Amino acid sequence: MGAMGGFDNVWVEITCPECGQVSRKTLGWLKRHHRVECLSGHVTELDTSAFQEELSVAERDYRRLERDFQDLRERLENGNEEE
Ligand SMILES: [Zn+2]
Repeated sequence: MGAMGGFDNVWVEITCPECGQVSRKTLGWLKRHHRVECLSGHVTELDTSAFQEELSVAERDYRRLERDFQDLRERLENGNEEE
């Protein structure tokens, strides 16, 4: 399981407030861009500062969760050895 890059490859949908068109972008793309343009050319400004803060928290939680699973698995494996 590769945790490299965290959520960078997760697709999110951004709905254009002007016409309702949905643009699909990866979180990695959204980290580097501040505006999304729909197919009709409407530009949506993204508040990426708040977004990135949330994302970094989510990534931290995700990594911690993954570490917890790792610990659990190691504990289970050790437990099996003892039997
Ligand atoms: Zn639009």
